[in-house]
This record gives sequence, structure tokens and C-alpha cells, in this order.
Amino acid sequence: MCGIVGYAGGDQAAPILLKGLAKLEYRGYDSAGVAVYDGTSIQVVKTKGRLKVLSDKIHQGADLSGVVGIGHTRWATHGKPSDVNAHPHMSQSGKFAVVHNGIIENYLSLRNFLTEQGYRFVSETDTEVVAQLLDYFYEGNLLDAVVKTLGKIRGSYALGILCKDHPDCIIGVRKDSPLIVGLGKGENFIASDIPAILNRTRDIYRLEENEIAVVKKTGVAIYNLDKKIVEKTPCHIDWDISSAEKCGYDHFMAKEIMEQPKAVRDTISPRIRDGEIVLDDIRLTEEQIRNFTRIFIVACGSAYHVGVVAKYIFEQYTRIPVEVDVASEFRYRHPIIDHKVLVLVISQSGETADTLAALREAKRLGARTISIVNVVGSSIASESDDVLYTWAGPEIAVATTKAYSTQLAVVYLLAIYMAEKLGSMSKTDYRFYISQLESLPDKIQEALNTKEHVRRLADQFYRSDDIFFIGRNLDYAMSLEGSLKLKEISYIHSEAYAAGELKHGTISLIEEGTLVVALATQRRLFEKMMSNVKEVKARGAVVLGVTTDNNTQIEKETDCAFYVPQICDMMLPSLAVVPLQMFAYYVAFLKGCDIDKPRNLAKSVTVE
Ligand code: GLU
Repeated sequence: MCGIVGYAGGDQAAPILLKGLAKLEYRGYDSAGVAVYDGTSIQVVKTKGRLKVLSDKIHQGADLSGVVGIGHTRWATHGKPSDVNAHPHMSQSGKFAVVHNGIIENYLSLRNFLTEQGYRFVSETDTEVVAQLLDYFYEGNLLDAVVKTLGKIRGSYALGILCKDHPDCIIGVRKDSPLIVGLGKGENFIASDIPAILNRTRDIYRLEENEIAVVKKTGVAIYNLDKKIVEKTPCHIDWDISSAEKCGYDHFMAKEIMEQPKAVRDTISPRIRDGEIVLDDIRLTEEQIRNFTRIFIVACGSAYHVGVVAKYIFEQYTRIPVEVDVASEFRYRHPIIDHKVLVLVISQSGETADTLAALREAKRLGARTISIVNVVGSSIASESDDVLYTWAGPEIAVATTKAYSTQLAVVYLLAIYMAEKLGSMSKTDYRFYISQLESLPDKIQEALNTKEHVRRLADQFYRSDDIFFIGRNLDYAMSLEGSLKLKEISYIHSEAYAAGELKHGTISLIEEGTLVVALATQRRLFEKMMSNVKEVKARGAVVLGVTTDNNTQIEKETDCAFYVPQICDMMLPSLAVVPLQMFAYYVAFLKGCDIDKPRNLAKSVTVE
């Protein structure tokens, strides 16, 4: 997410910070700010909107004098994009300025604690607690205060810190969010990513988890949490800027596929506390949940496919009937809705025009609305009664991967949460499903580890003209997404079918050599699926099966297979989608397609 740059050297800091931040714009952001220390006071300027607005406000940096400073582009997670919520954040005393990438998961309890100690907060962010905590712990020794603060905060963070008592230094820290240290001549840096500093130095340290960098003009010292010096070897960068922005990946899509374990972890873990699902971001009461007679799920594209999975999940867990609708259809079919209906809308950008219009229609008809959205403060987020954010971070590739996976994660959280409140799920099952949910990020990582195998099969099939995806129940829902992923980026014609439905028409398209991807992850439907595999094989199809680890029985029926780790059936879609995303990616890659920007498509569809 977003970007940090810090500078300690001999030149004016502000213009360097602005240039560095500009190189991090690709990461996505909604506001920007800088803090520069002139030895007397820390001056902070920050603003909602593009970097240009900030740059114009301070005359390209000329207005701020000082040779030490930190800068930030924010991609809001806690609190809407606004001037006040933009970083840097100051402690109440004015002693500390902090920039932060990531999420402080326990910020609410820290905020309550600090409020009791007399601290007043001005922003809605989680970040502000870090500035106040530093102040709370500071007794003259900066390193001590940093270590004590790190001992209290939970979550993911890269931090840049300025302290009024130390006019020559900036501090950089990281855990689960990237941060590097740049080593220049008479100047040193911190940054979220290499492009930010590449015009001034190519020598860097990569900070490891929980390392603390004390960065001065004269040198850099790295400490661990025991305040012991860590010896590190600098590494020299010899690649060009564009590959650095993709962190060495060929495409943003590949990078975002690999980011899924972290994105899903960031989405789930703040919402599971002491073995319970805590959704304190929504105000839905138990009584409202009990009164729902129906759930509508409304979305477009891949988010609609999340809805198709969600129908199975909600019906299974809550026993409330669910309808799923494509947003552009929902609006014009006079849906039967009243105040006893929950309408769940799903959109990565929160600006999808059809989904926004559907949300407005649902509200007009009196429904209770919840949105699942990735962009804080977006139109859908602000207009729905409640919003559950997916903390996927900015998604740049047009074809969604990590946003899709985090939307699914939120669906599990909400469905299990509601089921527990309704009593439709036993306490034992509740605990079991929470433990399964907690294991999801690691299992997604395991699924990603099969990428070489997926690539080999992509190599075998990328010349196909038509590819069919079939599955039953949840596997059918996955077929829809697998097929869409493939066609949107590789331009290969593809269709997804409920496996039992194929013979009612479409099977006539199967001929010698046609590739059929058969999803067979659902245990109780495995044999039925194998019958459908036999039907297509009898007509000449080549079949690529998808099933769970060790289910090698599939190889008796299919020509080749992808395997995903074991997890409860309801959560298998989160794992089955991974090889399908990678397959689509490699097929498109081998065909030489423009993967991040497929023809005719836009990332955020803001027209109806
Ligand atoms: N969670 C912080 C906020 O919402 C930082 C977000 C970011 O990584 O930019 O302000």
C-alpha cells in the first residue's frame, strides 16, 4: 500500500521527498503529505488528492526549509481520505511526526488507553496512536521509545519517524510492510520501494522484520528489538525503474497474485479476536440479523462471482434464502425488497456505476445495505448503511485477483458471524470455521507454491481456441471466475458451465482436443463430477482436473491436474481460484498479451 520516503542529508529535503513520492505513485494513493524539520520546528503540510496538489501548495518544496524530513502517500484504510487523515501525524505535544503504511490492528484499544492518559486525537486513523505512543514512552531516549512502542502495536507497518529532540535523524521500522534504507554520499534515505531513491543512490539495505534504522546524514545504524546493532551488507541495484515498480515481477497481476496471502491475512486477522469474529466496523444489530427474511447480493464481473460463491455460503451457514444478481439487471427488474431484506453489494473500487445505482435502488426500497469495498471513502462505501473493507491494498492490474480473494474472505467472516448470532451454527462449528479461516493465508501460499507446475500446463494449452470450465455447486461458482480470468486477459474464448448442465446443449461444442477444466474440489460431488468428465472425454475433450491434495484418483479420469491444499469444503473456492488465476496469467503471458491492461477493459467501470 502507498508510499513512504525519508531523507537526512545536506540538501533541502522537501523537493527530494516530493520527487521520491512521485516515483511511488504507481502504488495507488488518495492523499499526500510531508514533514520537514528545520532544527527549530517540524513543519507538516498534507492534503487530500494528488501529489501535484501538495507540490503546488508548497511551491515544489521551496516553502519548507530543512535538510531532514519524511513524506507519505496514503491509501486510506482507517478514516476517509481527507486533509486531517493524511499523514504525517503529529503527537499532541508536537514532539513526534509519523508516517505509516499498513494497519495497526489494535489501534482502538490503544486509542482508548491513550485517551484515558489525556491524549486528544485529531484524525480517524489508526496511525495517530503510533505518534502518541512514542510521546507517551519517550523519556529522552529515542530508541527506547521506539522499541516500547513496537512492543505495544499489533498489525502490519512500515514507519517513518521524526523527533524534535533529534534534528539530524529519521527512524525507519518495518513489519509486514516493505521499507528499504538508501545509502548515499553525505545523505541517506528510507523508502517503501527502490524507485523513490534510485535517482540519488543505488546502494540499499533491505530492512528485515522489526529492524529499526536510525538514519542520519553521516551514516545509518540498524538495531534489533533488543537494541543491539545489526550488521548488514548493502546491496547494489542494477535494474531499471520500471521493473523495480513491479518489485521484479513482469506484471502487476503477477505481483498481486503473490500478494494474496498478505491481503487475506490483513482482511481477516483484525476481525478475529480471542477466537471470536468481531465486526465492530458494522452496526448491524442481532435483532436486525434475526429479522432478515432474504439476502440479495448485487455486483458486477468478478465481484458478482464472489456473490455466486456467497450464495452457497450464506445459505449453508445462515439458512436465509439468497438471491444473486448482476447489478445492471437488478435495477431494472423491480426486485421485491423491503426492510427485512439485507442487500450486500460488492465492488473493488467502490465506484462501479451499476453497483452504485443498484445500492441506491435497494436503499430507496427500504433494504438494509452492507457494502464490501476496497477503497475507503468511495461512493459505495459512503452511501451504504455499513461497509466491510477488504484490506487488499491498491490493485493496479485490471484483472482482479487479490481484491477477489479478500472479498471472499469478508463473505466468510460475515456469514459465520451472522450464523453464530442466529444460532444456525453450533459453537463447535463456529470455532472450527474460525480456525479454518485463520489457516487460509498459509494455505493460499501453499497453493501459490505450485506455480511452476501451473506454468508447465499453461505451456501445453496456451494455443487453445476454446476452453470450457465445468463444476458443481461451489466448483461451478469457481468455474465462472476461472473462465472470466482466462478470457479477459488471454482473449481465448471460454465458457463456464454447471457440469450437469453441459449435456443440455453446450456439449455439442466439444470436439477432439477441446480443453475442459473440470473443478472437482467438493468431496460429496466428486463422483458425480467424474461422470461429467467421462461425458466430455467420450467426445474427445482433453481434461485438466482441479482437486484437493492427495486426491490422485482424479488422474484416473483426467489427463492432468492441479492440486490445492485441504480445507473445509466451503472455503475451497479461496484455494481453487489460485491455480486458475495463475493459469490465466501464464496463458496470457505465453500469448504475449498486454496482461495488466487488456484490450477494451477498464479497472473501475464508472459508466452504466
Ligand atoms: N492505516 C493507515 C491509514 O489509514 C495507513 C494507510 C496506508 O498504508 O497508507 O491512515
